[in-house]
Amino acid sequence: MTTLVWLQRELRLQHHPALETALSSAAQNDDAVIVAYFHDPKHTVGDANSAWLADSLLDLKQRLANQSGALWLIEGDFAERFQTLLDTYSIKRVHYTFQLGAPFKTLQQTALTICKERNVTLTPFETENWLPYETVRNQSGQPYKVFTPFYNALMQRIGDVEPFDETPLDFRVTARIDCPPEHDRLPQHLSALRNQPWAEKILKHWQVGEVQAWQKVDDFVENRLSHYAHDRDFPALAATSELSPHLHFGELHSRAVLLSLSPLNPDTPTAAAGWIRQLAWREFARAILWHFPDTETTPFQPKFQGFFTPLSEQDEAHQDFYQAWCRGETGVPMIDAGMKQLWETGWMHNRVRMLVASWLTKNADIDWRAGEHWFRHTLVDADPANNVMGWQWVAGCGVDAAPYYRLFNPIRQSEKFDADGRYLRQWLPTLANWRSKRIHAPWISGAQPDLWSETPEPIVDLEASRQRHLEKVQALKQRR
Ligand code: FAD
Repeated sequence: MTTLVWLQRELRLQHHPALETALSSAAQNDDAVIVAYFHDPKHTVGDANSAWLADSLLDLKQRLANQSGALWLIEGDFAERFQTLLDTYSIKRVHYTFQLGAPFKTLQQTALTICKERNVTLTPFETENWLPYETVRNQSGQPYKVFTPFYNALMQRIGDVEPFDETPLDFRVTARIDCPPEHDRLPQHLSALRNQPWAEKILKHWQVGEVQAWQKVDDFVENRLSHYAHDRDFPALAATSELSPHLHFGELHSRAVLLSLSPLNPDTPTAAAGWIRQLAWREFARAILWHFPDTETTPFQPKFQGFFTPLSEQDEAHQDFYQAWCRGETGVPMIDAGMKQLWETGWMHNRVRMLVASWLTKNADIDWRAGEHWFRHTLVDADPANNVMGWQWVAGCGVDAAPYYRLFNPIRQSEKFDADGRYLRQWLPTLANWRSKRIHAPWISGAQPDLWSETPEPIVDLEASRQRHLEKVQALKQRR
């Protein structure tokens, strides 16, 4: 009997229960295992994400080949390709790792229907989290909606986090089915995307793949973890791990990362505890999407229904604000630097993500979904759970609500978290030679106008728009 291991976002060889179980049962029964990734261009996350995906698949393919295995890369309409594979190879069992959000939800539903029709056993394996979602609930049995209690509950149960079987995989023990040539190369859609200059540029900043990801974990733990709590909010310091795309693509299992930090040991250094708390935000985002799947597209807090006008229904001025924001031309240095970093590297520092999201949703009064959409297109780590939670959190309509406090002042934030302007100079050529403390708001300084002449004034008045937003929130409160 042949088992299919269907990969989505778990592009690794270690810590992979779906793959391990298939191999060990095949070894016992002299069965075959096909490991496949289906690429349907209609169901992708975003372009930067797909560029990373291309390299990650090639890396995994090579590593599997080194271990006498093969990764089949199957391109085309998912439903059509999936059923053809099942029928052609008389596959009776499919293993996959459950994934949250779009496009995975749709693909998993399609796979379920196809398997049911054919009497094929479709087995979902644990998703990429520390503890099963159902087991972390409050005393009334409800899911947590605020981070800190969720985190405390998670930490209380941390001893229940299951270790992995670390036995290396062995493909030589299974019966062999050769990978047909048409499935032995990168899907054309991914290949074309990967070869675009923008993708080339972005990927120069990254080392894609499982081995590289673990090297990065080691490097971070050795060299940066001890400063993390202190430095993590300063975008110029590169003090965070930058592991988010590796975690999104499952090159790392988040549980394996957690276990590598020995959190079960009460003497875990405080520095590691600070980082574990940040990793727990990812667990929280996933738990929220699991329990409240509609929040992928609708506000977590129902009272915010209709609060944001869809971008397509807004006037030309708002369309222009959005375009300027995407291009990093709002005239506010910290916002523009963040948007340039995103375009150049496919990644943005967490503090700056909060600031650009706040500017878009609160100062420019644009629907959080439009911002989420641009991030999805341009982030290499674009992730259905983290992205949506981040946007809703900042917009004030999500979990952990506090709409007033997250109306960030991007100038004050810039002065606080990039006091010497290093981050601004790095990403904004027009400010590269600007040494003045006034770099955070050049239009106020009145000095050196030649250096800040391209967008001399912010396109949205920060104070007036702040007031307007507060009035809008006030009106919302009064309506209830
Ligand atoms: P570190 O500080 O080293 O943290 C380690 C890991 O913990 C991260 O890689 C990430 O997996 C997780 N993590 C850290 N902070 C958060 C957080 N606030 N929420 C959820 N997980 C977190 N993260 C994504 O992975 N994908 C996204 O699409 C995404 N979109 C975001 C959009 C907005 C508007 C905001 C405010 C945040 C978003 N985040 C997203 C969360 C966060 O900004 C990134 O995870 C973080 O910047 C990644 O950098 P790092 O790996 O160096 O993080």
